[in-house]
Amino acid sequence: MEVIVAKKSGFCFGVERAVNKVYEQIGKKGNIYTYGQITHNEQVVRDLAEKGVKVIEDRDALSRVTEGTIIIRAHGVERIIYEMIERQGLECVDATCPFVKRIHRIVQRESGAGCRIVIAGNPRHPEVEGIMGWCSTEPIVVETAEEAETCALFQEEKICLVSQTTFNYNKFEDIVEIFRGRYYNISIVNTICSATEERQAEAREIAASVDAMIVIGGKHSSNTRKLYEICSGECPYTYYIQTLDDLHLELPKSVRLVGITAGASTPSNIIEEVQNYVRINF
Ligand code: SF4
Repeated sequence: MEVIVAKKSGFCFGVERAVNKVYEQIGKKGNIYTYGQITHNEQVVRDLAEKGVKVIEDRDALSRVTEGTIIIRAHGVERIIYEMIERQGLECVDATCPFVKRIHRIVQRESGAGCRIVIAGNPRHPEVEGIMGWCSTEPIVVETAEEAETCALFQEEKICLVSQTTFNYNKFEDIVEIFRGRYYNISIVNTICSATEERQAEAREIAASVDAMIVIGGKHSSNTRKLYEICSGECPYTYYIQTLDDLHLELPKSVRLVGITAGASTPSNIIEEVQNYVRINF
């Protein structure tokens, strides 16, 4: 079987960097904790757990830690988390993606100058919660054009609009247009990271040209689900798997070319395994 693997599949730069930072800590003195799961991939999380890395789910759990190293994942966290780590005398390894860190700096600076921060994003996403935690004025999160239409700010307020790194570009443009039409004292910083969009564009292109498509990624990974949606729109034989064990291909004899892509939480060894299996066994 001929196989095409998307070049932009698997870990993005920020997640790869964060996962590497965790592995670098293993074997060093003291307990190692990640603040939230480092990636949505079950295999990676299990492997780290077997190597003794624990996951702290929230502030409450953090407040009970008395010793060790806390690793901040790529999504970043609120400022208060750094303060707690310091107060409790813990070590901090900051694996916040530099693209997210840039947003923290922007909102800290702008809100410090009295600006109202508007974040285009999902208010329940940890990255957005983290960004909100760097604002010194009350931030507002808008997820849809309707919310942008109805959000009530004062005409004379100074506004700074940023976006969650994985926010949809078209939705961001719609929100920008509404804000530009309603407020005159507004600065807009497009902080969308191109990694997601490039991955989706390439997956769409490959899915449209192959006979079958395999999408690899965690069950709870929203970017993998999105990839699956895009690929199944282009290719009727699209499969969503977490690892090679889930792969039960039932392909018509005419299938000659298989495409593979993977979500941002999928490590390269899983992609490699699936690729080799399909190449050799079909
Ligand atoms: Fe960083 Fe972009 Fe990956 Fe988010 S998607 S972690 S911003 S590289």
